[in-house]
Amino acid sequence: MKTISLEGQIAVVTGASRGIGRAIVEEFVQAGADVVIADLADIPQDLLDVVKQHGRRALPIKVDVSKVEDCNQLIDTTIAEFGKIDILVNNAGITRDALLMRMEEDAWDAVLAVNLKSVYACSRAAIKHMMKARSGVIINISSVAGIMGNAGQCNYAASKAGVIGFSKSLAREVAGRNVRVNCVAPGFIRSKMTDVLDEKVKQAVVAQIPLGRFGEVTDIAQAVLYLASPMAQYVTGAVLVVDGGMSM
Ligand code: NAP
Repeated sequence: MKTISLEGQIAVVTGASRGIGRAIVEEFVQAGADVVIADLADIPQDLLDVVKQHGRRALPIKVDVSKVEDCNQLIDTTIAEFGKIDILVNNAGITRDALLMRMEEDAWDAVLAVNLKSVYACSRAAIKHMMKARSGVIINISSVAGIMGNAGQCNYAASKAGVIGFSKSLAREVAGRNVRVNCVAPGFIRSKMTDVLDEKVKQAVVAQIPLGRFGEVTDIAQAVLYLASPMAQYVTGAVLVVDGGMSM
């Protein structure tokens, strides 16, 4: 059986203490990568134990990705500790939902800073090392909200659509240096982010999903693993939608 290997690769994953980010870390270490686990929150010991069980190295870093200095420091520390960065996954994200009429400026600014400015800042810091190495992969976590729109999420949808435009532009800038840039656009995935939705909303969402259920964090992590791996070596500027068919 053909398996995906990331043996010898160094991966940085943001927002990785839980949810989709954590699942990505777990897939990466199973595939043989060492990981920098970056989050605003403390990295839970049981995640560090999982990395250890697979014989891989983890470097936990506390970072606020909405701050450019933190993003620069994240990549600088990665280079100082591991000497290179092969894979960057910009996964950290937040929601501050409200109808536009009631959406205050701070809810707009916070979501754009965490979901979009962070992608600029971390990618900018990483790309110079990848271009020098003539190798690297960036995967940005967008959302179907950035493709379809979603009432109550003007800020979130704008940030996630921005991530797609950013990724395609950067993919064109760096393809000549063998650096690939892609997006994964999840639909509704079971995580802390969607746990807060009330039961009626969840039922209405499920009714719009041809596969008839919310996705799991592993569904997204496996798509990210594919894009990070040599199996996707001819894939750049793509948006891989993983949404149970919701947006087709
Ligand atoms: P989650 O469970 O809320 O996890 C998000 C993680 O990002 C948390 O660990 C959070 O840390 C961290 N984070 C938030 N702000 C940060 C900051 N400023 N700096 C560093 N880390 C920060 O969400 P998730 O469902 O796994 O979502 C992961 C990504 O997928 C997000 O980009 C999200 O927009 C996207 N997505 C999710 C869904 C879904 O249905 N779940 C659908 C489409 C797209 P704290 O614990 O400190 O807050």
